[in-house]
Amino acid sequence: MDVKYANIVLPLAQNYFTFQIGEELSDLVVGECVEVPLGKSKIYIGIVWAIHDIKPDYKTIKTVYKRVGNSPRLSALQIKFWEWISSYYICTLGEVMRAAIPSALKPEGFSSEEFMRDLYKPLTISEIKWGEKINTIDELNRTLEGLKRAKIQYRAVLELCNMANIKDTDTHIDRSFRTLRNAFDYDSTIIKALEKRGIIEIVKVEITQDKLNNVPYNTNLPILSSAQEIAFTEILEGHKERDVALLHGITGSGKTEIYIRLIDNYLREGRDVLYLLPEIALTSQLIERMKRYFGERVITYHSKHPPRKRVENYLRVNRHNGGELIIGVRSAIFMPIGDLSLVIVDEEHESSFKQTDPAPRYNARDCSIVLSSMCGAKVVLGSATPSIESYTNAKEGKYTLVNLSERYGEATLPNIIISDNIRSVKRGERKVHFNKILLDSINDTISDGNQVILFQNRRGFSPYIECNSCGWTSRCDECNVTLTLHKMEGKLRCHYCGFSTSPPQHCPSCRVGIPDAKGFGTEKVEEELQKLIPTARISRLDRDTSRTEKGYKTIISDFSRGDSDILIGTQMLAKGFDFSGVSLVGILNADNLLNYPDFRASERAFQLMTQVAGRAGRADKKGTVIIQTSQPEHPTIKYVADNNYIGMVHEELQERSAFLYPPYCRVVTLSLKHRDKQLLYDAAAVFGNEGRKIFGSRLLGPQPPSVDKIKREHILCFMLKIERTGSFARAKEMLLNIVKAMGSDSRFHSVSAQCNVDPQ
Ligand code: ADP
Ligand code: ZN
Ligand code: ZN
Repeated sequence: MDVKYANIVLPLAQNYFTFQIGEELSDLVVGECVEVPLGKSKIYIGIVWAIHDIKPDYKTIKTVYKRVGNSPRLSALQIKFWEWISSYYICTLGEVMRAAIPSALKPEGFSSEEFMRDLYKPLTISEIKWGEKINTIDELNRTLEGLKRAKIQYRAVLELCNMANIKDTDTHIDRSFRTLRNAFDYDSTIIKALEKRGIIEIVKVEITQDKLNNVPYNTNLPILSSAQEIAFTEILEGHKERDVALLHGITGSGKTEIYIRLIDNYLREGRDVLYLLPEIALTSQLIERMKRYFGERVITYHSKHPPRKRVENYLRVNRHNGGELIIGVRSAIFMPIGDLSLVIVDEEHESSFKQTDPAPRYNARDCSIVLSSMCGAKVVLGSATPSIESYTNAKEGKYTLVNLSERYGEATLPNIIISDNIRSVKRGERKVHFNKILLDSINDTISDGNQVILFQNRRGFSPYIECNSCGWTSRCDECNVTLTLHKMEGKLRCHYCGFSTSPPQHCPSCRVGIPDAKGFGTEKVEEELQKLIPTARISRLDRDTSRTEKGYKTIISDFSRGDSDILIGTQMLAKGFDFSGVSLVGILNADNLLNYPDFRASERAFQLMTQVAGRAGRADKKGTVIIQTSQPEHPTIKYVADNNYIGMVHEELQERSAFLYPPYCRVVTLSLKHRDKQLLYDAAAVFGNEGRKIFGSRLLGPQPPSVDKIKREHILCFMLKIERTGSFARAKEMLLNIVKAMGSDSRFHSVSAQCNVDPQ
C-alpha cells in the first residue's frame, strides 16, 4: 500500500509538520484533529492541513495513529480563512491555531496522563433503561417473580415500573423508557445487582446545552423610531449592493435596537449571526439585552469564561444547530459558525479589535469583512465615532454609509463644558485634581439623586513615586518604565512585565528623602473624592477591579441599579455602556489623551472623549459633560465640544495626506528586539541600510518606541508605508526577505523580529 503523509498544524510558531499517516487512519481527512508525538516525548493536538504522498526529508518521520474524540473538524471555510490570516498578517498557521482553538481542545503534555488531564472531556449524566432481559411483559413478570427474596431489588424494579408508567393491563414493554440515575433513589449496590441480572442498563449521556431545538422562533421586537426605521431599511437596501454597511449613529441613537432587528431577520431564517464587541465587561450588559429577545439562541465566547465553558460553547456552535447568535470579543471571529449570514462589529473604531501580542496580530473587524466575503455574509460596522479608515471607505463608496443623527426618544446630546485647569489653579479653585465646577456639579448631581461617571485614563494610584529630596523615581529594572503605585494593595507594579515590589519608606538613592506619589490614577481619584464627599457611594471599573467575570458584573449591575453614585473608570467606560441614571460625566485630565506620540492621537482622543461624554443623559435627563484640560484651545477639544465629527475627520485627513499616513497608505511596523543593546543597534543599522535600498523613504526608522525596553529586551522599530496604489503583498514579501537576510548573518541571528500589519 502507498504510504501517505499529512501536513499537520500544531499550536507552535510553525506552519506545519509532516507526519506519516498510520494504517489505522487510512480514512483521515483534511481538517480533522489528531494526537501527535513531537520531540522526545511531547504530545500535541494537531490539525490535518493536507494529505499527500511526498516523503519529507527529515531523519526520522513520526507517525500519527490517533484521532481525537470530541474535537471538531475544521471546515473548508475556516481553512481558507486561517490561510488568509497567516499570509496577510505575516504569521504561521500554528500561531493562528493558538488564537483560534480554545485551550482545552489543544492541550499539550509530556505524557499521556498530562495530556489527558488537560484535554476537554464532555460532562455526562447517567440514565437507566431496561436491560436485555426485559423485552416483554412476560419477561418482566418472571423477573419480578424471581426477585421475591431480594426484597430491595424487588421494590426497586416495581418502582421502575411505576416510573415507566407500566400498568397491569399493558401488553408490551416500551423499551425507549429512560430515567435519570439521580432520580432513582437506590444505592449503587442495588443498581449494580440489577445491571448484572440484565434487568437494567446504565447509559452515559453527554450533556449538551442545545435547548434551542425545542424553542419556537418567537420574539417581541423593539419598535423602531422613524429615524431608526429609515436607517434599518438603508442597511438592508445597502446590503443588496455592497457587503459592508457603516452605521454612523451618535451615542444613544439606539444602534443596538437596529442590530436587534437585523439579527432577527437572519435568525428567523435559521441562519447564524456573529456580534463582535470590543470589551468583555461590556458583553454582560449586552448579553442580557440580547437574551431578552433571543433567549437560548445567544451563545457567548470570551476569555473570562472558564476553559470548560469556552469549549462547550465552541462545540455548541460547531454543532450547527442553525439560528444562533454568537456574541464575543475579537477571538469569536474564529468560532466554527455553520451558516454565517451577518457580522455586526459594534464600536468598530476600537483598537482592541486588533491583537497586538502575541501573533497573530489580527484585526477582528477587518477579518470579519474578509471572512464574510469568503462565505457571502454581510457586515454592519457601527460607531458614533467611526474610524477614519472605515469612514473613508464609506465615503469612497466601498461601504454603504448610513447616518443616524438623533438620540432615541426624548434624550438629547449632553452639554459639554470645557474647564481650564490653569485658570482654576490661578483662581484658587482647584482642590487636588478637581476644578470647582466639576466638584460642584458632582455634589449637585448626587443630591438630585442622579449618577456620575468620572474618566481617568490611568489605573492604579499614581503612575510613579519620586523622592522629594534627590528626584529619584521608581523604575522597573527589566523595563524602561516607571512603576505604578497601587496603594490599596501596597505595591509598586510594572504594567509591562508584571513585576511588583513594596514601596520604599525612604529613598533608596539618597536614603534621606521621602518618596512622594506623583500624578494620579483611578485609585487616587477614588480616594480623593471620598475625602471630599464622604457620603458618596463610589465604585471603580478598571483592569484591577475587573479581573474576574463576577468582579465586573457586580460593579456594573450595582451601578445600573443605582447602588452606587459615582463610577470612576479607565477607557473601559468608553465602550458603549448604557446607564440611564447618569447625568454627569467628568473627564479629569484630557491632556494625557492629547499628547500621545502617535499619528492617530487626535482621532483617538476625539473618539474617547466623545464616547465617554456619550454616557451622559441617555434617558430623559439632560446630561452634562465637564472636560478638565490645560489646553482648552486644542482643536480636538473644540471638535469634541462642538460634536463635530466631520470637522475632526477633515482636519485629520489633511494631515495624513500631507505626511502620508493611513488611510492614504498602508503600514507595517517591524520591531527588532535583543538584550544586547549594541548588537540590536548594529542589526538595526544593517536592516535600515538594506531596507532603504529597496523602499527608499518609505521605510522610517530605526526608532525606539515610547517604552524601549521590556523584560530586559531592548526594542527598535521601523515603519514601512506603502501607497495605496502599490502592492502591499509584494512589499510585505520584500520586507520579510530583508528580515531573513539579516537573520542569516551569524552576528544577528538571535535578534528577534516581529511584524505588525496595520498597527493600531
Ligand atoms: P447606542 O448604542 O446607539 O449608543 P443604544 O442602542 O444603547 O444606543 O440606545 C440608547 C437607549 O435608548 C437604550 O436604553 C435603549 O434601550 C433605548 N432605545 C433605543 N431605541 C429604542 C427603541 N426603538 N425602543 C425602545 N428603546 C430604545
Ligand atoms: Zn532621594
Ligand atoms: Zn517591567
